[in-house]
Amino acid sequence: MQEWTVVTRSPDETAGLAERLGQLVAAGDVITLAGDLGAGKTSFTKGLAKGLGVKGVVNSPTFTIIKEYQGRLPLYHMDVYRMEDEAEELGLEEYFYGEGVSVVEWPTRIEEQLPENHLSIAIYHLDETSRKLTVTASGEREQQLGKEWLE
Ligand code: ADP
Ligand code: MG
Repeated sequence: MQEWTVVTRSPDETAGLAERLGQLVAAGDVITLAGDLGAGKTSFTKGLAKGLGVKGVVNSPTFTIIKEYQGRLPLYHMDVYRMEDEAEELGLEEYFYGEGVSVVEWPTRIEEQLPENHLSIAIYHLDETSRKLTVTASGEREQQLGKEWLE
């Protein structure tokens, strides 16, 4: 287990940070984004999508639960905030172990489906324009990814 902390001072700074992660991710990587409403989970995902080379607009999939985008790899963007009991029916494993990169907003709602190894990011609201991001890497691949990204 390895952990990093980053403070960003603007939405652009968060997007830039996420964009660099988007350049490093590989098929099968799972990134979880925790944090209250308005923390910056969707903004982070937009930056990551840009780094992955996704063209077009990435919006919050709150009402659809999963949206798929195509960049250098597929991006599976999940927002499970509104999901209750149907987690198993969604077949999330197909995404997690698929050809693309999964980004999950509100991961605590699908803890049982989540692969054990993932890059876990918690975003805390410091003030109007500042956020603290805590990044935790569980597996070896994730630790390597975190190092490349943040060190
Ligand atoms: P969530 O998906 O977590 O509900 P959003 O990404 O939709 O959050 O919204 C985050 C909001 O916070 C946006 O309006 C964004 O402009 C604002 N914001 C302010 N400062 C930052 C920052 N440092 N990083 C990310 N977002 C920020
Ligand atoms: Mg969101």
